[in-house]
Amino acid sequence: PFDVLIIGSGPAGAAAAVYAARKGLRTGIVAERFGGQVMDTDGIENFISVQETDGPKLSAALEAHVRQYDVDVISSQRASELFPTAQPGGLHGVALESGAILHSRTVIIATGAHWRHLGVPGEEEYRNKGVAYCPHCDGPFYKGKRVAVAGGGNSGVEAAIDLAGIVAHVTLLQRGSHLKADKVLQDKLHSMTNVTVLTEALTTRIEGNGKNVTGLTYRGGDGTDHQIDLEGVFVQIGLLPNTGWLKGTIQLTDFGEIVVNDHGATSIPGIFAAGDATTTPYKQIVIAIGDGAKAALSAFDYLIRVPPI
Ligand code: FAD
Repeated sequence: PFDVLIIGSGPAGAAAAVYAARKGLRTGIVAERFGGQVMDTDGIENFISVQETDGPKLSAALEAHVRQYDVDVISSQRASELFPTAQPGGLHGVALESGAILHSRTVIIATGAHWRHLGVPGEEEYRNKGVAYCPHCDGPFYKGKRVAVAGGGNSGVEAAIDLAGIVAHVTLLQRGSHLKADKVLQDKLHSMTNVTVLTEALTTRIEGNGKNVTGLTYRGGDGTDHQIDLEGVFVQIGLLPNTGWLKGTIQLTDFGEIVVNDHGATSIPGIFAAGDATTTPYKQIVIAIGDGAKAALSAFDYLIRVPPI
């Protein structure tokens, strides 16, 4: 059995693996895909101390860092079920989709999240070529340009406010008849002079010239199609944690985020979690990495305090 078994090999999982291995712990990592969401990213300019990198480069660096240590990398596997120990100090079990069951004294869950997609023509084709999901990450690439935000909930309205300070103009499209964001955010949004809010506006297509986004089409409340010329579309219709496999075991929020305390501990002793899959706010690489390191140190603290049974 492992001392520490990490599920997920994005930034959070990779950081947890390096920290656990450096404590001399028997460490395993279920690595479906090194880098996680980072693999889907083009330019990265906010990974502090690295002025500019890209997703594949950073993912390869995360993998190389993990493999530099004595970590058992269980590649191309997904966890399908968690069997927590009934007694502190016992072994937790993690079932893999392959049917294997791994055992470990502590588990760190770092299975991340994924952005909900609009599912309209052009969205996949122009991903990272004008279609973006993360305003903190990609907002500055659109300085002085025209963008749309699809989604009128809190994250959509926050994104529109954020982007309005950087870009030339923001059009916010909300499918329903009114915005769902908190009133204070809506008031702030309506006070901005370079924002247009469209309700009953269903994004139906993202247009491009083969290289980049050039516009989008939406269907209005009257059923007619309208076109907007722009350079970027930020899709803000939800970030979904990859935690479906945990239902009925550890505590999750209504949104499916793993509830963690300030040490990365979950509702079950010996099971920790880190990164985008958790309630830790602000889903960013530097934050996920810090979170992974914290969860590994918390697992170490647990292991030195709770005797094995
Ligand atoms: P993830 O990166 O989501 O990794 C989780 C891993 O777990 C994945 O490999 C996944 O396949 C795996 N997994 C899921 N379920 C299971 C399972 N059941 N069993 C085993 N493995 C599983 N952040 C920035 O700071 N700067 C940026 O410029 C930036 N740009 C972004 C651009 C895009 C397009 C996207 C989508 C995100 C971007 N982000 C950026 C956000 C950043 O990528 C995430 O915050 C970060 O990757 C979260 O790390 P994580 O390890 O928690 O999760």
